[in-house]
Amino acid sequence: MEPPQRITPETTLCGIVLHPAGHTRSPAMHNAAYATLSIDAVYTAFDVPPAALPGAMAGVRALGFGQLAVSLPHKVAVMEHLDEIDETARRIGAVNTVTRREGRLLGTNTDWLGAVRALEREAKLSGARAVVLGAGGTARAVVFGLRERGARVHVLNRTRERAELLARELGAEGAGTLVDLGETPHDVLVNTTSVGLESDASPVEAAAIAPGSVVLDAVYRPAQTRLLRDAAAQGARSVEGKWMLVYQAAEQFRLFTGRDAPVEAMLRAFEAAG
Ligand code: NAP
Repeated sequence: MEPPQRITPETTLCGIVLHPAGHTRSPAMHNAAYATLSIDAVYTAFDVPPAALPGAMAGVRALGFGQLAVSLPHKVAVMEHLDEIDETARRIGAVNTVTRREGRLLGTNTDWLGAVRALEREAKLSGARAVVLGAGGTARAVVFGLRERGARVHVLNRTRERAELLARELGAEGAGTLVDLGETPHDVLVNTTSVGLESDASPVEAAAIAPGSVVLDAVYRPAQTRLLRDAAAQGARSVEGKWMLVYQAAEQFRLFTGRDAPVEAMLRAFEAAG
């Protein structure tokens, strides 16, 4: 545990809005980063039901928050409460980070970079054949990131129409359903469905995972999901969802402070808070 910070009238307030708040580990990660680099800020979590979001955002503005992270279910709804939304967040269609710049609230998205940096621990993305499972908000960020890095992307989702729409909007090469994985060659596989979250289920058959591929599961509870265990058994390399979470938080820290994040300290805080 990092030493507690001294909170004074000068301390900048930061936080995360989400619902339900559950046991988010974002405060642990960000407060550890502030303590490590002696940033005079404090970060906490706010359980905000959808109907309370307009009031919460007026509060963020009036109270002079330094930075606000935005999680489920607010990533789209928050956009109408901001002064500016950058091109990346506009293309993804979701904001997960609000940073104050000269009194203005600027929305951006760091989920895509979290996924890309997590994958780059194990894979070269330029020219890679990638498959993204899912077609929700996280899938949009991951497809955007993979395309940014020059990968060719297929989107497979339980509901085919949503996969097709996402593929068209974000320039993926193809779309299908989850059972198509076995016939879709891939060097990189990313799960962005919620399947596996606090359960021992996988969105795809183990035999459909390509040996030698790199598999990232955005789900991070449990750390070793069924998909990642299946991937290892198939001879694929796996990347745990915690890396995506820590790297997207590291980018938020950089946007807030202008300094590189102490990733090791953030990872330690994430593990300790679990
Ligand atoms: P979302 O917008 O609600 O999308 C959910 C996706 O899961 C949809 O594609 C949906 O398919 C699919 N799905 C749900 N239940 C399914 C089932 N039983 N079988 C097959 N597919 C199913 O959610 P999201 O915001 O993208 O989040 C998805 C996951 O990513 C969550 O577990 C979240 O915790 C995780 N996440 C992780 C990070 C990280 O940093 N590690 C960041 C963001 C999100 P349909 O379209 O057919 O309904």
